[in-house]
Amino acid sequence: MEKVLEEVLEENQVLAKHGKVASYIPALSKVNPNHLGICIIDANGNTYKKGDCEVKFTIQSISKVIGLMLALMDNGEKVFEKVGREGTEDPFNTLYKLDLPYIKKPVNPMINAGAIATTAQIKGDKIKRILELIRDITENLNIDYSREVYLSEKTTGEKNKAIAHLLRARGMIDEEPDEALDHYFKQCSIEVTACDLAKIAIFIANGCKGLKSYGEINRKTLSRNLLAIMTMGGMYNISGQYAAEVGVPSKSGVGGGIMAAVPGRMGIGIFSPPLDENGHSAAGYGIMKSLSRRLDLSIF
Ligand code: GLN
Repeated sequence: MEKVLEEVLEENQVLAKHGKVASYIPALSKVNPNHLGICIIDANGNTYKKGDCEVKFTIQSISKVIGLMLALMDNGEKVFEKVGREGTEDPFNTLYKLDLPYIKKPVNPMINAGAIATTAQIKGDKIKRILELIRDITENLNIDYSREVYLSEKTTGEKNKAIAHLLRARGMIDEEPDEALDHYFKQCSIEVTACDLAKIAIFIANGCKGLKSYGEINRKTLSRNLLAIMTMGGMYNISGQYAAEVGVPSKSGVGGGIMAAVPGRMGIGIFSPPLDENGHSAAGYGIMKSLSRRLDLSIF
């Protein structure tokens, strides 16, 4: 495995040169584009790592999986009355369909509109509970959110503000838009490492075994929903292409992370900040393709 990791990193690191670090959130433009790391944890708990897998970066859209987990634990599958679980050909920050009269809810929890509508369904102190859940799963008590990235998103995230206000105007969220956004920006700014992502991924891949309480949902239904929704929408508008080329339920974030859960087999966390034109880690995507081929990871 060590050799496989070394080779897939070496084969794909050149892809990072063709990508661009996200700059629409100003604080993200400061990250070192040369970081590259991978961590894999198998179903027996064996950990394999290579490169910069202890470097912290913001989780960004990968937090949408955790937000969905908590919303499902709080409300069961009623969550899907307010957010769909279908695929989309639109990018992660799309909003125009929200204003079409026949659209009653955002298409899935993996696009920004859907994530805002999902997090809005978490009960109590949302960010505190999201942090606690991630700390529980990763056994990393130091997990917190970056105040700098949070403020950077809050001061510049005009598109997300438009989305939240449109959601409210159309009656798709009950919360005040600014409050809903605040939770969303905070969850996106949570700092993790590639190894933290691998831990979350193996937890999901293992049928969400191990939490003290699952609230309103049983753990099988929880993990099936997460895996299915990651497959259908985790890579946004190219989820179908990714399903054919990689075939592993995954979620990416504009911080450069990819989290991939191979059901029953392994959890993978990758970090490389330069992004391709769809907002996915360019080298990360390549690494997932190589790994899937070499280790026969596709679920299809
Ligand atoms: N915080 C980012 C945004 O809302 C997350 C997007 C992403 O990672 N794709 O724009």
